[in-house]
Parts: sequence; C-alpha cells; structure tokens
Amino acid sequence: MQISKNKVAGIHYTLTDNSGNILDSSKGRDPLFYIQGIGNLILGMEEGLEGKKKGDKFQIKVSPEKGYGVKDPNLMQQVPIKAFGGQEVKPGMKFSTNQGHVVTVTEVSTETVTVDANHELAGVELNFDVEVMEVREATADEISHGHVHGPGGHHH
Ligand code: ZN
Repeated sequence: MQISKNKVAGIHYTLTDNSGNILDSSKGRDPLFYIQGIGNLILGMEEGLEGKKKGDKFQIKVSPEKGYGVKDPNLMQQVPIKAFGGQEVKPGMKFSTNQGHVVTVTEVSTETVTVDANHELAGVELNFDVEVMEVREATADEISHGHVHGPGGHHH
C-alpha cells in the first residue's frame, strides 16, 4: 500500500539542518503516525512521502517555503531592556510574551533587546531521513477528527 491522501502512515525520521546538526528525531520513540494529505505534516514532508510504502528509506529536503516558512521581519522587534526587569538577557534566551508566544532573543544592546517571534525553524532548509514503518487506511473517525487514533495517535 502506498502513502496517498487519507492513508495513515507511521514513519521514523531524523531532522538535520544543512550543517548536519540533529534538530529532532523519532529514534528511541514510537514512530510518528499521521494522516496524509490533510496538513498534519508540513507540505514538503507530505510531498516527499506521497507514493512511498512500508520499508522505504529515503531523504526529503524541504525548503523554508514548504516547511516552517521564511522569516517574517515584522516578527522581529526591539523592546526596551527595562522591560526585562533587570534580569540578565543574552542572545538565544527564550521568553513567553503575555500573549503566550515564544520569542527568542537575537541581540542585546545597552538600551534595547531584539526579539524574534518567528518559528525557530523559519528560514531553515530541512533535511529529513525517513523510514516508512507502516501504511494503512484511515478510519472514517480518523478522517472526520483529522488525526490518528490508537497506537501513536489520540486515545479517546
Ligand atoms: Zn479523534
């Protein structure tokens, strides 16, 4: 059975950036189960997985446009350093805003702090090593709920 729209697939994956740093991996966990063709995964992954079958091992390269998007300069803001209440602020630190967004500090000067609210993988080219562990039909319930049930999915 091949992966196509409304099939459930279970995959193992390792995600690296172009420098070979591992950003995420399903190794040591259960496979990731998802429903193909309904936006459970980023577009570049769905395109790369389409037509694959159980046992296939391959790589998928995903551009930012088909991944987590390009960086939006409007989501980068300078805020007065006073807003941090005197605590030490360094590039790479993450803070939650009052609206519940996570922002990352990119630059600190004497007066201001530059924070970036883009997804941390925005603008990053993604390299996935993938192995397809299982492909099956989605149930009617899974399709109507938009997620996988049972092993590797929702239990309810
Ligand atoms: Zn459900």
